[in-house]
Amino acid sequence: MSISRFAPSPSGRLHLGHAYSAVIGHDSASKNGGKWLLRIEDLDPGRCRPEFVGGILEDLDWLGLRFDGEPIVQSRRTHLYADALERLRDQGLVYPCFCTRADIAESLTAPHGDAGAAYPGTCRGLPDDPERRASTPHSWRLDSAKALSFASLPSWVEADGVRFQSRESDFGDAILARKDAPSSYHLACVIDDADCRVDFVVRGEDLRPSTPTQRLLQILLGLPQPTYLHHPLVLHADGRRLAKRDLAPTLAAMRGSGVDGLELSGQLKAGLLPLGFAFSNP
Ligand code: GLU
Repeated sequence: MSISRFAPSPSGRLHLGHAYSAVIGHDSASKNGGKWLLRIEDLDPGRCRPEFVGGILEDLDWLGLRFDGEPIVQSRRTHLYADALERLRDQGLVYPCFCTRADIAESLTAPHGDAGAAYPGTCRGLPDDPERRASTPHSWRLDSAKALSFASLPSWVEADGVRFQSRESDFGDAILARKDAPSSYHLACVIDDADCRVDFVVRGEDLRPSTPTQRLLQILLGLPQPTYLHHPLVLHADGRRLAKRDLAPTLAAMRGSGVDGLELSGQLKAGLLPLGFAFSNP
């Protein structure tokens, strides 16, 4: 039996891409008598709003997708992420970072890996300064070079059996706890996947670049390795990403215009998209 999860951020209404991800995850869990969990990734106080949680529940219900148990709400679980950060801090694998976004942009000369702009390492190796930490907002970053000297370059297995091997350039001293939030996406994701015994991670291929850092964290924290299914993204037929600025139709709008949710989820399960949309790698 496998355990899978759908992990939307309540920062807006769900769109067709979310529906596809949810349908694929739900289908793969139900095929082998597994469980499908709903996790609300609401750690970003600037972007997440409680009313969007209600929207997620409505949309899943409309699609006929039932999740097992109660939703797992990250903002109620921050003690777990704080414990994990402390374990990494005890191992000397994280360091406080006082840089602002502007500082980083200014000093950035390093090449960018797949995981986004590499951090130039300004605060790595600074002597510990508890006074500065007490008085200055700071994030905590993974010292990836040090971490990789303990763990060899992580690899992982995709659901089709293909093994992905990470490279050093995939790691960029990821933020694990933010100035304004008790944890980052990476740390909360690996802690929750392990805590909820998720062994089958189904998500869009845009998140594949997050996987090396997440696998590294699993190794450092002694957590089990799930199997990953990074599915193609749903795009507009002309190749544009589904995003608010591209006027992606929300599921709420589709419902409002008379689309039948059960029919839509049946179509998505069969790999068919409504007119005007296409997969990222057909
Ligand atoms: N919260 C992430 C998103 O909405 C998904 C994270 C994941 O599935 O690992 O894109």
